[in-house]
Amino acid sequence: MKKRIAVLGSGFSSFSAACYLAKEGYDVTMFEKNESIGGRASQFKAEGFTFDMGPSWYWMPDVFERFFNDFGHSVADFYELEKLNPAYSVFFSDGSSIDIADNLEDIFNTFETEEKGSSKALQEFIADSKSNYDVAVKDLVYRPGISPLELVTPKTVAKLGQFFSNVSREVRKKVTNPKLVSILEFPVLFLGAKPSKTPAFYNFMNYADFGLGTWQPKGGMHQVILGMEKLAKSLGVSIVVNSPISKINTKNNKVTGITCNGQELKFDTVLSGADYHHTETLLEEHQKQYSESYWNKKTFAPSSLLFYVGFDKKLKK
Ligand SMILES: Cc1cc2nc3c(=O)[nH]c(=O)nc-3n(C[C@H](O)[C@H](O)[C@H](O)COP(=O)(O)OP(=O)(O)OC[C@H]3O[C@@H](n4cnc5c(N)ncnc54)[C@H](O)[C@@H]3O)c2cc1C
Repeated sequence: MKKRIAVLGSGFSSFSAACYLAKEGYDVTMFEKNESIGGRASQFKAEGFTFDMGPSWYWMPDVFERFFNDFGHSVADFYELEKLNPAYSVFFSDGSSIDIADNLEDIFNTFETEEKGSSKALQEFIADSKSNYDVAVKDLVYRPGISPLELVTPKTVAKLGQFFSNVSREVRKKVTNPKLVSILEFPVLFLGAKPSKTPAFYNFMNYADFGLGTWQPKGGMHQVILGMEKLAKSLGVSIVVNSPISKINTKNNKVTGITCNGQELKFDTVLSGADYHHTETLLEEHQKQYSESYWNKKTFAPSSLLFYVGFDKKLKK
């Protein structure tokens, strides 16, 4: 009989895990507490307007392509992508703004206009950033994550120095214009850390930004979730909404299943795509990896208060 796996949540991570597990032959059911799928990438519809509730920046298109390729598909089978030009505009407090183009050559020119000599410095910075991208995003993130030693490779050892410097310091070695400094420091925001506290190695985010560009799925980011849902269903994954998991059940410290909507359901394995801290609250005290005092000492990335505002006519600018 097929092994039964319960996947908690229906965000990108839960869908990704569910698809790979189903492909390996497991009987997979996804449990989503909300009435609709997507997690932080959910969609909100009201009064004729449709909003992406969370993400809007589609970066690293190669990662999405690689995911769908693993199942014999391509992104184009599920949604249509458009590369944005300008990729985005940055507005400064003095009222000025800088457009970031969709190609490196134009971006180098923009930098040169703002600060003489900066285009050459930027070229060097992007070359280094690309090399880090190839190591980090094309290789390291795909390792199984079983041992920290997976991160020790000849390529990472050669880049060890970059773990002792930070993004902020390295950016300032390349440009001095404060506007250019903020543009180059901005991408690590997506990692939820300050540039001054982020190792220089993470400048691969700058290659994701300038080198690979900013994209938009037609119909919004939620289309990615809908694409993953379609793929998951085609692989035989069951998806249930309005199904909060209130407990991960165990016997002799081995998982036996979950409790959902007051019902005990048997599963061989439970996999969580929800936040780590929340997931541990579903376990018995002695089964938790981290104590409450551990979590209390952590600084979490800032959240945000979002307003979903729709206009029924085109506004100037
Ligand atoms: C406002 C905002 C803007 C963002 N902008 C970007 C961006 O522009 N580009 C980008 O790449 N990323 C962006 N992100 C980050 C990105 O959205 C997230 O990293 C990603 O969506 C997280 O996916 P996930 O599957 O890991 O987790 P989640 O999407 O959080 O999925 C967890 C799921 O588990 C469910 N769940 C939790 N507890 C239970 C339970 N007990 N039982 C059942 N279900 C449960 C939740 O409802 C949720 O569906 C943004 C995030 C936010 C909030």
